[in-house]
Amino acid sequence: MKRSKQTREVIDGKRRKAEEWRRLQAQNAAEKQRLREYRVALARDQVPVDTTRLAPSNSYSIPGFVERGTYRPEPFVCKDCGVAEVWTPLQQKWWYETAKGDVFTNAVRCRACRSRERARKSAARRVHLEGLARKKKPPAS
Ligand SMILES: [Zn+2]
Repeated sequence: MKRSKQTREVIDGKRRKAEEWRRLQAQNAAEKQRLREYRVALARDQVPVDTTRLAPSNSYSIPGFVERGTYRPEPFVCKDCGVAEVWTPLQQKWWYETAKGDVFTNAVRCRACRSRERARKSAARRVHLEGLARKKKPPAS
């Protein structure tokens, strides 16, 4: 009896592993497919703009990517360190459609300077809030 139970556990274990492996294979295949589609879209300069997801703008002029209907790689020079970088179509899509960035803003800082700037801002905010908290505290008596 014991032996057959052990055998069953081994078989179950193997089945679970096989299922896990199939799941991972499917995931990898889906990811590869996504990358392939993205590369094709890039090659054709066709990462589409979803105008319904853009932040509203009061301006009468229309940004180039909206007019074109696609995002394309935008080379720029970092305003802090002068490094040349490319703002990729997917980064633009995220910035305008997910982060709801203003449609007339562009990338100005490289990746490294951007994260440095973010850290600087959050430190400044923390100092500011600590200062406020100190002011609000009633005087000790
Ligand atoms: Zn930089």
